[in-house]
Amino acid sequence: MQEELIGHCRACGKPILCKMGFLDGVVQEDIALLCFVCSGDEEETQLDS
Ligand SMILES: [Zn+2]
Repeated sequence: MQEELIGHCRACGKPILCKMGFLDGVVQEDIALLCFVCSGDEEETQLDS
C-alpha cells in the first residue's frame, strides 16, 4: 500500500495522505488542505435518519 504525505489539515492539523492515488481529504481553492471530517462541516451534514 502506497501512502504519500501531502500536508496537514488547516483546521485540526491531521496529516493528509494520498493513498493509492486518492487524497485523504480535500484541497481548497486557496490550496489549503482539509481532512474529510473538517470539510464535512462546511457542506451538508450526512444524516440518514
Ligand atoms: Zn481536519
